[in-house]
Amino acid sequence: MKAIALFSGGLDSTLAIKMIIDQGIEVLAVNISTGFGSTNDRKEHMQNMCDQVGAKLKIIDIQSEYLQDVLFDPKHGYGKNFNPCIDCHAKMFTVAKRIMEVEGASFLISGEVMGQRPMSQNKDALQTVLNESNCDGLLLRPMSAKMLEPTIAEINGWVDREKLESITGRSRDRQLEMVKEIGLENFESPGGGCLLTDENFSKKMKDFIKYDKFEVKDIAVMKFGRHLRLPDGAKLVVGRNKDENIHLQNIVNDKFYHIKTLAIPGPHALLSINASLDDKNLATKIILTYTKASSKLTYKLSYNELEVEGSPFESKDEIQAYTVL
Ligand code: SF4
Repeated sequence: MKAIALFSGGLDSTLAIKMIIDQGIEVLAVNISTGFGSTNDRKEHMQNMCDQVGAKLKIIDIQSEYLQDVLFDPKHGYGKNFNPCIDCHAKMFTVAKRIMEVEGASFLISGEVMGQRPMSQNKDALQTVLNESNCDGLLLRPMSAKMLEPTIAEINGWVDREKLESITGRSRDRQLEMVKEIGLENFESPGGGCLLTDENFSKKMKDFIKYDKFEVKDIAVMKFGRHLRLPDGAKLVVGRNKDENIHLQNIVNDKFYHIKTLAIPGPHALLSINASLDDKNLATKIILTYTKASSKLTYKLSYNELEVEGSPFESKDEIQAYTVL
């Protein structure tokens, strides 16, 4: 008997997996990556959790499918920010079911806890998700199982329902008890959740799609730097620190110039490749304003292979009007 777990690396999904493995069932933990997870690399953490509970880990990249089918026209709308949680969950279950069939597994599990999150995890929302993904009856949620209708795995006796949990709500008391019982270590996942639930990230997304078609290669651009929109419509992204400069430098995206200051230390920046001359000149001024350059002198910057000259503004206040975030 084999089950597929929808796995985030979080405590609830880890505990759900452990409960099923303890009943003698093999579990493949599947992490479905939309591209909008936190900027921290969670792979090591996920592997560690799986190793501790004895599950295999598989990471599935659905970025392109996610942009095409879910993010920009969600049937069930958005949550508080740019998070299409119901449609997103339905997509994840659909993908998990696909994997279940390929792997010859018999049912799905997830770490969802009833009533833990207001929009995506209330009873109606979960039912909608199951209907949309044709997973009704297939999905067992071990953390709240006793509060829910028995699923196929319980009805067929593959899983003993009595050994599952009846957790609801936001308290983590029972989860922490279980952590002690099984001796789970380092279970706090490295910070940051889904970026689509972040207010500032959502503002950047909304600004982006007003001007351009959003593609997979743009996801990385959205994660770093100060974002500005220039008067003729060009997008400018300026690194705010060394770490962001490194991330921006490594981005491969032919929609943007890579801009560096020459002969003076400065941030790494990206500018829309189709920027007008005025926007280019303004971008030069803005980038130089984030250096120690004097407004009375001119400095060179490289735009990919081209060299451009300009001087900074006298004050950062003059940049404010163009800042998205
Ligand atoms: S929080 Fe993000 S990853 Fe989770 S369901 Fe909502 S949109 Fe999807």
